This record gives sequence, structure tokens and C-alpha cells, in this order.
Amino acid sequence: MQKKILIVGGGIAGLTTALALERIRMDYYLLEAVPEIKALGAGITLAGNAMKVLEKLEVARSVQERGEILTSMIIQDYHGKEISVVDAEKLNREYGMYTVAIHRGALHEALLEKMNSGKIITGKKAVQYREDEEGVVVYFDDGSSLQGTAVIMADGIHSAIRKQLIPDSQPRYSGYTCWRGVTTDAWNLKRKAYETWGPAGRFGHVPIGQNLVYWFACKNAPYKDEQMKNFTITDLAENFKDYAQPIQSMIIQTPRENLIWGDIIDLKPTSRYAFNNLVLIGDAAHATTPNLGQGACMAIEDAWILAEEIQKHPDTLSAAFRAFEARRVKRVNFIVNTSYRLGRVAQLENRVMAGLRNYILRLLPESLNDRQMKQVLDIA
Ligand SMILES: Cc1cc2nc3c(=O)[nH]c(=O)nc-3n(C[C@H](O)[C@H](O)[C@H](O)COP(=O)(O)OP(=O)(O)OC[C@H]3O[C@@H](n4cnc5c(N)ncnc54)[C@H](O)[C@@H]3O)c2cc1C
Repeated sequence: MQKKILIVGGGIAGLTTALALERIRMDYYLLEAVPEIKALGAGITLAGNAMKVLEKLEVARSVQERGEILTSMIIQDYHGKEISVVDAEKLNREYGMYTVAIHRGALHEALLEKMNSGKIITGKKAVQYREDEEGVVVYFDDGSSLQGTAVIMADGIHSAIRKQLIPDSQPRYSGYTCWRGVTTDAWNLKRKAYETWGPAGRFGHVPIGQNLVYWFACKNAPYKDEQMKNFTITDLAENFKDYAQPIQSMIIQTPRENLIWGDIIDLKPTSRYAFNNLVLIGDAAHATTPNLGQGACMAIEDAWILAEEIQKHPDTLSAAFRAFEARRVKRVNFIVNTSYRLGRVAQLENRVMAGLRNYILRLLPESLNDRQMKQVLDIA
């Protein structure tokens, strides 16, 4: 029988996996819950480790053209004084690793343009799966089902099937909530990304190409807080009024309909992604807080490594999935844990503790920052 893999979920993990399977000529169908895959969301940065994979999938150039290659990532205090800087151009010169910031919608467009659209079936929300000698069957909420040789679950942090397989893997609240927005870049940010830490919360802004800038704002708050949910552009501008410009004017200039809100959650690390002929990837397996900007990058790395293992074990996909798990758990857990800890440090709102933190970080030698960055990017 011809092998057919079912990919469940058409986010960044699902779409890049589809491209990676096309490259090794493995047949698949991609099942997505929403009726239409549309340009949604705000911005995203794709670090060198993800761009390397996108190069191998021959989609890096169109991602670059739709986004912006960054020259540096600066952390500053709320007066605008530098705390630390990552020289992205140096990483590019020395290791050929460059970071692209892009609108999420534009990234989806680039991935969709490259893949075989006849392989996507939308309006299919997976609710259950069963495995027997014949293969796997995925059941959908419209009462239909589909049979395949194996299934790749790329359905995000709330994956219903992961919850069935690992009942204690519930999303974990980080302690801070987040707003995101996109507006016109009226400040000519010159390919520099900023993160500003201060007593009223954390604010990041990044140029994403097409003369647009993406920003995010994080504040410590209780989980699912009604007051935070109802925050408006005016409330946010007031909250960040003491921060160095252009922060406040960027918030004010953002169209109301471009404001997205959500609590920051991740998954406590697990060591299990492979379940015989089913494998979890991307946020469904290992959602991380966004502090290292590595969640989607991990999903993109997953796609490549999974395809490599499938190519090595084309007749026993369960073995490919186990090998994938063995190669991914340690690295991904390092990212999830480091990002979680970094979030705690970045979200310090107590002035004395934050002042001490900034003082210590400014004293750290550049070589230490470089070493940590190389570990995140997986540069040997
Ligand atoms: C504020 C914020 C900022 C971030 N910034 C960055 C960044 O700069 N860089 C970075 O690398 N990462 C970043 N991330 C993380 C990144 O967004 C995620 O890691 C990434 O989107 C995960 O992709 P995914 O495809 O695994 O999951 P998702 O994006 O959640 O996609 C899952 C897909 O599955 C579909 N689906 C869900 N349930 C079902 C079902 N039952 N059946 C069928 N389909 C289903 C959904 O509709 C969706 O299309 C950020 C995250 C947040 C919250």
C-alpha cells in the first residue's frame, strides 16, 4: 500500500512539515480546522536556525523579500539606556546566520505559495484518533474520518489528542499577559529590534518589512484577568507613558482592530513526542514562552529533522518518530526552560530588583552573551 501521512494543523509547524515531506517525496494530506487558512496575527522573528531550514526548503528568499533582515537586537531600560545588544550582522558574517522579522500572514503566504495546495483540506477539526494493524484513523468534528499510515500532530498548544495521550500536559501560565499590534513604521527603525524593560512592563518593537512595525507589550497579571482583557489602546498608551519614545506614539498610532491580546502560556517540558505511528511536533509537543523568539523556530527545526528521520526509516515510521524524539527532547527542553527563566528576569517590575538586574547584565562580558546566543542558535 502507498504510504500516506496525515498532518493535523496548518500553522507554521504543519506547513513547514508539508514542505519537508514534499522534498523527500513522501505523500501526505494536511488537515486544518479553520475553513480557510488566512493571513492572521502580528509579527514574528525567525532566527538563523530557522532561516537555515527555510533555505534548505527553498523558501528563505521569499520569506526575506516579504520581511526584514535585522542588524541588531537591543535590550534597553525604560529611559532608553542600553542593557545588552546582539549584533546580528556579526552572526551573519561569522556563521551565515541571519534573523528575519516578518508579518505572520506574510510568512504563511510564503509557505503556502511553495506547497502543493491540492494537499490541504480545511474545515477538518481533529477530535480523536485510533490505531490498528491497518494504520491510523483520524476522526473529525463533522463526523468524517481519514485513514493514513501515520499521523503528525501539529495542532498547537491546545492539542486535544496530546491531552488524551499525556493527560498531565496542561498549558502553564507564565504570570504575564501580552498585547500585540502592527502599525506603519513612521520612525524608520533601520532594521533594529528593541526590547524595553521597566516598572510598568516590557515593550518590544521590531520592523517587519513592507514599512510596518510589530510591537508587543507584556505586563504581570493574574491569569485570564478581566481588566487586562478589556485594556484598550488608550489604556496601554497610559501604561507606557513614562517609557522612551517612540513607544507611546507607536501604541497610539496602532489601529484598534490590529490589537491582539492573550495570556502567555507554555507547556511544562515532557520527554515524549512519539506514540507508535503518531508524533507530536511544534507547539503541540513543546510550546514555549516567546522570550527567546524560538517557538516557531523550534517548529521549523522539527519539520526538517522529522523529514530526515522519515527518509532514514521509510518503512517503519514508528522508528522514525522515536528517532525524531531522541534528537529533539534535550534541545527543545533547553529552549523551553531558558525562555521560561528569561521571562521571569525580564518581567521584574520591582524597581530595586530591576535596577540590580540591569546593572549586572551591563557588566556581563560580550563573550558570555555570544556563547548563550550560539547555544540558542545551535551553532557548534
Ligand atoms: C506573543 C507571542 C510571540 C511569539 N513570537 C515568536 C517569535 O518571534 N519567534 C518564534 O519563533 N516564535 C514566536 N512565538 C511562538 C510561535 O508563535 C509558535 O511557536 C508557533 O506559532 C507554533 O506553531 P504551530 O504550528 O506548532 O502551532 P499553531 O501556530 O498554534 O498552529 C496550529 C494550527 O493547527 C490548527 N488546529 C488546532 N486544533 C486543530 C484540530 N483539532 N484539528 C485540526 N487543526 C487544528 C490551528 O487552526 C492552527 O492552524 C510567539 C508566540 C507568542 C504567543
